[in-house]
Amino acid sequence: MTNSLTIARIPGDGIGVDILEAASLIVDRAVAKAGLPALTYAHIDAGAGYFKETGRDIEPGGEERAGQADAIFLGAIGLPSVRQADGTEIAPHLRLRDIYGLYAGVRPVRAYPNAPQRLADPRAAEIDLVILRESTEGLFYSAATHGRSLVVADREARDTLLITRETTEKLHHFGFRLAEKRKARGRPGKITCVDKANVFVSMAFFRKVFDEVAAEYPDIEAGHNYVDAQALDLIRQPWAFDVLVMENMFGDILSDLGGGLVGGMGMASCAEIGDEIGLFQPAHGTAPDIMGQDKANPLATILSGALMLDYLGDKSGIQGYSDAADAIEAAVQSGFEQNRLRPMEFGGDMGTEAVTQEVLTLLDA
Ligand code: ATP
Repeated sequence: MTNSLTIARIPGDGIGVDILEAASLIVDRAVAKAGLPALTYAHIDAGAGYFKETGRDIEPGGEERAGQADAIFLGAIGLPSVRQADGTEIAPHLRLRDIYGLYAGVRPVRAYPNAPQRLADPRAAEIDLVILRESTEGLFYSAATHGRSLVVADREARDTLLITRETTEKLHHFGFRLAEKRKARGRPGKITCVDKANVFVSMAFFRKVFDEVAAEYPDIEAGHNYVDAQALDLIRQPWAFDVLVMENMFGDILSDLGGGLVGGMGMASCAEIGDEIGLFQPAHGTAPDIMGQDKANPLATILSGALMLDYLGDKSGIQGYSDAADAIEAAVQSGFEQNRLRPMEFGGDMGTEAVTQEVLTLLDA
C-alpha cells in the first residue's frame, strides 16, 4: 500500500484562496480516480492579509513546515494595498524559492482550442512551448525581500544580477532533460538559450555553461537567441519553439508575454523545482481587481496541480501520480475542444466555480 503524500497548502491572498481551493478539488479527484491514497494537506498561513493582522508574512515555522512536505501548492500572494516599509509588496514565496533552491521555474505556454488566439496566423493554434525561468538568482538575487540591494544615501540604488556555475549547470541539465521528455511525447526536442550574451559578461557565462551542457545531449537541438529577438519571435513565430531557458528577470517578463499569447494569465501554470522539493502555483498574481467575484479563471492553478502530480510521479516513482496529471491535462484539453470550458476571463459565461465543476465532470467521463 502506497503511503499518503503530504502537500503544504498556502492559499495566500485575493483570488489565490478561491483558485487553490478549486484546484485542490480537481487534484484530489484525479488522485482518487488513479486509485491512490488521498493527499494529506498541511495548511500554512502566509501573505499580505496575514501580514496585516500579525506583522509577519508567514506563520512562525511556516517555511520549515513547507520544506518538510512532498510538495508545496500555493494560490497567490501579495496585495498592492499592503506593503513593507520600503514600499515593496509582501513576498514570502520569494524566500521559499531562495531557502529551498527552487531554481527551475517551468512555465508551459500552450494554445487550447476555442481559447482566444491573440495572433492572426493560424499556426498560433500549434503553440506548445515551455519557458524555463531560473528562479533563485539572476536579477532577482537582489529582490527586495532578500535585503541585498545597495542604497547610497538616497542618491543611488544598485541591484546585483548573479549567475553561478552550480545553479546554471543544474538549470541547463533540467532544460535538456525536459526537452528529452517532451521529445518522447512527440515534440521536436529542441532547446533555445535566451540571453543577452552580446552585452553582459554574466549572460555570456550563462551561454557558455549552456554550450558545455549541450555537448552531453547530442539528440537535442540546441540554439541561442538574444532576449530582445526572442520577444519579437514570441509574436512572430512562437510555434517554432519548444523549450526556452533563461535568466530570472527575462523569464518573469517573457512568461507574461507567453501567458498573453494563449489567452491570458488565467492559463499560465507554473512549477518551481529544486533538488529536494517543488512549489506549484499559477504564474499570475492575486488579481485584486476581480477578487471575491467568482470571476477568476482557476485553470492556471488546476494545470499547476497537474504539474505537481507529474513531479510527485517522478519523485515517488509511482506512475499513478503521472497518470493523474495526464488525466487533468486531457480533461482541460477536451473541455476546450468541446467548448465546455468558457472562462469569464475570455468573455465566456463561466466563473471560478462553474469551470471547476465542469473539469470535475470531464474527469469523471
Ligand atoms: P503580480 O505582480 O503578483 O504578478 P499583478 O497585479 O501584476 O500581480 P496579476 O494579479 O497576475 O498581476 O493580474 C494581472 C491581470 O490579469 C489583472 O487584470 C487580473 O485581473 C488578470 N488575471 C490574473 N489572473 C487571472 C485569473 N486567474 N483569471 C482572470 N484574470 C486574471
